[in-house]
Amino acid sequence: MKYDVVIVGAGPAGLFAGREIAQQSKMKILIIDMGRGVDERFCPATEYKGCTKCSPCAIMSGVGGAGTLSSGLLNLKPDIGGDLGQLLHDDAAAWDLVKYVDDIFLENGAPQQIFNPTQDEAEELERKAAAVGVRFIPIPQRHIGTDNAPNVIKKFEEKIRLQGVKLLLKKRVLRINEGSVSLNDGSKITAKYILVAPGRTGANWLANEAKRLRIPTEYQPIDIGIRVEVPAVVMDPIIKINRDPKFHIYPDTYDDQVRTFCVNSRGYVVQEVYDDFIGVNGAAMTEKTSKNTNFALLVRVGLTEPLEDTTAYGRTIAMQTTTLGGGKPLIQRLRDLKRGRRSNWDRINQGHVRPTLIHVTPGDVSMGLTHRIVTDLLEALEKLDYVIPGVDSHSTLIYAPEIKFSANRIKTNDDLETNIENMFVAGDGAGLSRGLVTAAATGVIAARGILKKENIE
Ligand SMILES: Cc1cc2nc3c(=O)[nH]c(=O)nc-3n(C[C@H](O)[C@H](O)[C@H](O)COP(=O)(O)OP(=O)(O)OC[C@H]3O[C@@H](n4cnc5c(N)ncnc54)[C@H](O)[C@@H]3O)c2cc1C
Repeated sequence: MKYDVVIVGAGPAGLFAGREIAQQSKMKILIIDMGRGVDERFCPATEYKGCTKCSPCAIMSGVGGAGTLSSGLLNLKPDIGGDLGQLLHDDAAAWDLVKYVDDIFLENGAPQQIFNPTQDEAEELERKAAAVGVRFIPIPQRHIGTDNAPNVIKKFEEKIRLQGVKLLLKKRVLRINEGSVSLNDGSKITAKYILVAPGRTGANWLANEAKRLRIPTEYQPIDIGIRVEVPAVVMDPIIKINRDPKFHIYPDTYDDQVRTFCVNSRGYVVQEVYDDFIGVNGAAMTEKTSKNTNFALLVRVGLTEPLEDTTAYGRTIAMQTTTLGGGKPLIQRLRDLKRGRRSNWDRINQGHVRPTLIHVTPGDVSMGLTHRIVTDLLEALEKLDYVIPGVDSHSTLIYAPEIKFSANRIKTNDDLETNIENMFVAGDGAGLSRGLVTAAATGVIAARGILKKENIE
């Protein structure tokens, strides 16, 4: 069958793009994903321990993409998780697009409650942070929760299927070409428009395809660091002000940017499985809670020639750390890191923070991460301790590697069309976003670009 639009990837970018085109036109749309349907995807967090049903693909791939089993925290600010203002060249339009995306999440069952610090609360925290050179960034947020996110995605999927959007699952796209895609079962599907939204899991593949097709790309900085786990009570006062508080810290020695990211209140640390290494991430449920709160602490690393390829650099660090962990992420007690010794289970058990991820190897993260990164992280924790007393304690647990790859940025026009006519890109895999709302928003931008070419606006 010939389609008008083939979308590669059923993550937020692909799903929102499909919805947008189906709402506004009668075009025949097919979304292809190598992962499974929502109901066939299992479990990060608690059930992960020893779960043989879990596969890497289940967490990162399938309907809803990495969003389905994520903590479902919607950052409702256009410069968080990307920069929509820059993409649209218009800040007001960027805020409108965030609201548009948020409304669609709401329509599909995202909770009404919004976490938004009051001006007084935000100012007080900003002042406290500024005293030690830390910047607090207040953000309105909505929390769907890891256990509720699959329901939201399912409802979304049902609606777009009713609008006529077809989904082809468990099929990997091997090649994209002008007007067609080739699949791993040897078939070829043709369409007037190809929209590629393969997320982080497909970022390397897309970068290679871009090279083959001579689509220009540029490298972007990468975020490398750790996941920090502390007793929930330590973070509670801050979480009351902002659900996922964002701090930017500039440590004294190197003056690099270190930031907190993806705070999971009373959540779980989870594995993030890639083809050749294992990283960590976090998840938070609305129903099921732990006694801990975790967050990513990440150092921004940009590279210049001769090694501009931040992905290659990040993979080297991730693989080294995975090798040290015998195929598992490393865990270390902060006290052991500071004393320059590896952790073992006895030392971890001496502390009062019980790890929520036990498929890990106690070790020494300073053997896996670089000296500069470890120095940045330790100094950042020290500064952060003034704002959040208790995060820099002996018992604090750290897991590594946590790496946020920024996909190579695919160069496009303002409608996210590449230099190949009718080939569009969206989402994290194209280096356009780094979060649910922004990924979805770029899907909408690309979809509107396609509609514009069809003179439907
Ligand atoms: C554990 C975890 C927790 C997270 N928590 C949050 C959070 O709380 N808030 C937030 O804003 N963001 C969060 N994120 C990030 C967020 O999930 C992503 O930014 C978002 O899902 C990106 O959307 P996307 O559509 O660009 O890509 P993805 O969601 O990654 O979807 C891409 C899809 O493309 C498919 N695909 C890739 N290549 C191919 C191919 N060749 N052929 C066929 N299919 C292909 C994949 O299977 C996948 O389903 C989290 C991510 C993870 C992993």
